[in-house]
Amino acid sequence: MLTCDEILGWLREDNPDRLASLWRAADEVRRLNVGDEVHLRGLLEISNHCRRDCAYCGIRAGRPSLARYRMTAEEILACAGAAAEFGYGTVVLQAGEDAGLTGSIIADIVAEIKFRYPLAVTLSLGERSDEELLAWRQAGADRYLLRFETSNRDLFARIHPALPGRSRDRFEMLQRLRQMGYEIGSGVMCGIPGQSYEDLAEDVLLFARLDLDMIGIGPYIPHEGTPLGAGPDDPRLPPERQAPNTELMTYKLVALARLACPQANIPSTTALATLNLASGRELGLQRGANILMPNITLTQYRRLYEIYPSKACIMETAAQCHSCMRRRIQSIGRQPGRGPGGRRCRGVATSTIELEEQR
Ligand code: SAH
Repeated sequence: MLTCDEILGWLREDNPDRLASLWRAADEVRRLNVGDEVHLRGLLEISNHCRRDCAYCGIRAGRPSLARYRMTAEEILACAGAAAEFGYGTVVLQAGEDAGLTGSIIADIVAEIKFRYPLAVTLSLGERSDEELLAWRQAGADRYLLRFETSNRDLFARIHPALPGRSRDRFEMLQRLRQMGYEIGSGVMCGIPGQSYEDLAEDVLLFARLDLDMIGIGPYIPHEGTPLGAGPDDPRLPPERQAPNTELMTYKLVALARLACPQANIPSTTALATLNLASGRELGLQRGANILMPNITLTQYRRLYEIYPSKACIMETAAQCHSCMRRRIQSIGRQPGRGPGGRRCRGVATSTIELEEQR
């Protein structure tokens, strides 16, 4: 198991030869534990309404200028049907924390998707009540994604204000989700103003302690319509302490997450592709990741799910994203996954790589 100091050493490493050994180690651990298949999760952004005011996020409540949309049940089912036709194993329903997507509306949609299509259903709908989460699980939802965003609690509280009178601890919620029988996914943004190298090292250790089934990591991308992106009271640390929101730092985290959690499903994310459209997805897959999440949202809604600016693939159709992803997978000699691609049996990781020998 990696120690905190070893993780920090890698986060501060800039020697290309040594980094190449980190990429090789992560790629080998990925191959041994989750194989060469790249599982495809169709990502459906079902609503950009949000009751929260996260300082980093472009669909926060406090952006009255943003046009809001909520897909109808029929639209969602049609997109899920397209995902099944493309051969994806999973559909991911993601949204802002939208009270208009009530417990029963989502439960009905989940049940209908499970009835019609051989798809695993992942939900990513923010901090919802235990009753709702349980109802969705009972309706057939398989997995839940809820990033803890940063393990630094003070920073999290600053950028993710609680709803008045209500506070929901994301770590506690992840445990509850697991008890309910969900596979659980979490993750972080990399390079949030105020996030230190030490915070990122703690994030990686926490991925392992939580024994996450899925880990999503993307660079923080400033959105000028948000308080954090506009930067009036930017909590940035001095440069020697502030974690950079770069492509390279994101790859390091992906690779370290793979070493810390050999069996987890780890996507090469859209935020990474946004920093490097030409090859970000492929490099993520070659440095520890084993999942791609092609966007299947109807094109007319994509530009409105603007969690950060210049998001990759907002002009494309689902069919275009599908063929683009397949081409990228083939170009690096891997194969699209078949079946739902859930977490393999827990607790039998193969981690034969001794990193210390390679540094
Ligand atoms: N409402 C849901 C889904 C949020 S969108 C929830 O809160 O869980 C999914 C992820 O996008 C977030 O968890 C966050 O990590 C990421 N994200 C949001 N704003 C971002 C930004 N400005 N830059 C990079 N990633 C961002």
